[in-house]
Amino acid sequence: MNAKKQKLVTRRQRLLQKLAGLSLVTHGSYLERFSTCARKNCDCHKGKKHGPRAYVVVYRNGQQRQVYVPQDQVAAVRKGVRQHEQALELLRQVTDINLALMREGLLDESLTAGQEGE
Ligand SMILES: [Zn+2]
Repeated sequence: MNAKKQKLVTRRQRLLQKLAGLSLVTHGSYLERFSTCARKNCDCHKGKKHGPRAYVVVYRNGQQRQVYVPQDQVAAVRKGVRQHEQALELLRQVTDINLALMREGLLDESLTAGQEGE
């Protein structure tokens, strides 16, 4: 492997390791709102809504879903939403490295993560 390629591949490997560390990653947005419950006779249906309650908004098949977040999970979920931004930034940087390798004719699909650095 030439020196230029080695440098880029090593940088890429570091970025991918950071990406692997983002275990809480959640592609969604966090929101808090007041809500009504399923009990028909509850005061929440007469204007005394519950909350604010936490939700994470995700998209599935083009549909928005609001998933309730229990209070003791809020900090982890919020961290996971931030990790999604970090993941996007890391992917942008990996993309730039791969494009640089491609321009040099060095983008090698036969290389897997385990082989890099050899
Ligand atoms: Zn209620």
